[in-house]
Amino acid sequence: MRSPYTLDNPPPNEPPSEVLVPSLWRVQVRWWNRHTPSLDQRGVKHPVCGHCAQTWPCHSWACWDGQLGQAVGPRAEQAAPKAAPAANLPAPSRALALGSALAAHAAKA
Ligand SMILES: [Zn+2]
Repeated sequence: MRSPYTLDNPPPNEPPSEVLVPSLWRVQVRWWNRHTPSLDQRGVKHPVCGHCAQTWPCHSWACWDGQLGQAVGPRAEQAAPKAAPAANLPAPSRALALGSALAAHAAKA
């Protein structure tokens, strides 16, 4: 599984709350960062890894990225259905706000 992280949005050194083994996370992040292109390789058409000099994304980076993806992934999927009902909440509260706005108008008139 790919992680949600990219070169522009690298994984944080401190593990997100859903990570089960924080010490493992820090190791994975260290290696993830090692197997990224060096700064002068960023933005070139075919960057190479700054650590192993393979064409990037190199095999090692893909492995570490997959582990980070697993560390954050399953929990993120579990959170998604929980977020869905919350997304429906604004509708009734908007209706309430509209209702009280109408009441305010009515009171003025
Ligand atoms: Zn590499």
